[in-house]
Amino acid sequence: MAEFLVLGAGMVGVSSALALQARGHQVTIVDRTGAGLETSYGNAGMIQVEAAEPYALPRDMATLFKYALEISNDVTWKMSGALPMLPALWSYFRHSSSEKHAKISRIHSQLTIRSTADHAPLIRDSESEDLISRCGLVMLHRDEAEFEKASKKANFLLREYGVTSNVYDGKSYMKEEPALKKTPAGAVHYTQSWSCSSPGGLTQAYGDLFIKRGGRFVTGDVRTLQHTTQGWKILTSEGELHAEQVVVALGPWSPELLKRFGYRIPMVYKRGYHGHFNAPKTLQRPFLDVANGVLAAPMVKGLRVTTGAALVSLDAPMDTKQLKRGAAALNGIIDLGEQVEEPQWMGTRPCMPDMLPLVGEAPNHKGLWFHFGHGHQGFTLGPTTSQLLVQAIEGERSELLDALLPINRLS
Ligand SMILES: Cc1cc2nc3c(=O)[nH]c(=O)nc-3n(C[C@H](O)[C@H](O)[C@H](O)COP(=O)(O)OP(=O)(O)OC[C@H]3O[C@@H](n4cnc5c(N)ncnc54)[C@H](O)[C@@H]3O)c2cc1C
Repeated sequence: MAEFLVLGAGMVGVSSALALQARGHQVTIVDRTGAGLETSYGNAGMIQVEAAEPYALPRDMATLFKYALEISNDVTWKMSGALPMLPALWSYFRHSSSEKHAKISRIHSQLTIRSTADHAPLIRDSESEDLISRCGLVMLHRDEAEFEKASKKANFLLREYGVTSNVYDGKSYMKEEPALKKTPAGAVHYTQSWSCSSPGGLTQAYGDLFIKRGGRFVTGDVRTLQHTTQGWKILTSEGELHAEQVVVALGPWSPELLKRFGYRIPMVYKRGYHGHFNAPKTLQRPFLDVANGVLAAPMVKGLRVTTGAALVSLDAPMDTKQLKRGAAALNGIIDLGEQVEEPQWMGTRPCMPDMLPLVGEAPNHKGLWFHFGHGHQGFTLGPTTSQLLVQAIEGERSELLDALLPINRLS
């Protein structure tokens, strides 16, 4: 048994803490706020078995041109944010070649396929069943040609990774989804994915389970972390804490901390926004409006609309144009109702250029463990990569783990 500090109480941090605790370790989570109040709070709440292939950067000139001019609502960017990210973006571009992406997807799919099974015992033990719906995720297409491609993709995902789906033409899907007011070109319903009506609530419930099982949660600023001859020390609201081992699970804030220890972590920061709407008709299933890059999912606070990626720096000011454009487009196919008044939320997907989370020991420090970079799927993968983190800590090796280890991926 060892003493661990887990830095960060998002889905990845609380899942790490639970997994370490289950192996008999003594664990303290340190966060500046509470559990599930940052990126893990405001996401779309999907546990995405269908996301076998991580988001690649398109490499065709037409799409890149659309992104550059912000013609498409999927991606926006600011020069001040994109410039410092250039090395990471270049690496992302290189890893997005079809050959490399296929290799990466073979790894990623092994994580996503087991994600619901890894969440299941935590959902049960944290008594969070009421937050979970097992009705899948729909990709709604407005364009016939895109729908045609998407149907082929669905077949490919089944063949290659065992991802199941039902494909509907527009008229048939109108019967499935009474909230639609306009017939789409078609829809692909990925059936194995789950959705959560309060991602922050679920993360908090996992945090509460950790406490119930004897874990400790303290507030503190992780920037006070220091390496000592015995291990690690940190200043918290409960004084100085010491531990032999520390897990960095700070999502998009991980590179900032690790810079102090000499690590240059290339990260692509993809910001997203959400807004809630009091839509008069409840959706049967969450759906992605593919043409407009917005996802609509029923949540405790109303119908949550989440946006695609804004390539801006972590601390760039808010700019809700993607949310406004996306909501206006959605209003053309469902009645969104009024936007709920609340403080504007934004969060950042912590994306590694090779599209895989970093899981394992730091290359140059004993007892420093990396567990971040889950990109678009951190809410999905927190419990799964936590199992792998524990395996790495226990010295196990596997092909899957090798593909995630920092030592094999950071230069
Ligand atoms: C719009 C949007 C939609 C998304 N939809 C989905 C989805 O449907 N499904 C999915 O799987 N993923 C989704 N994601 C991605 C997912 O939300 C993230 O990958 C995931 O939340 C990352 O979790 P994390 O625990 O690594 O980071 P976080 O949840 O951000 O946790 C990091 C923690 O570190 C703490 N911290 C930071 N700095 C300090 C400091 N100095 N001192 C102390 N504590 C600190 C923060 O307080 C925070 O609690 C979405 C993301 C966005 C932005």
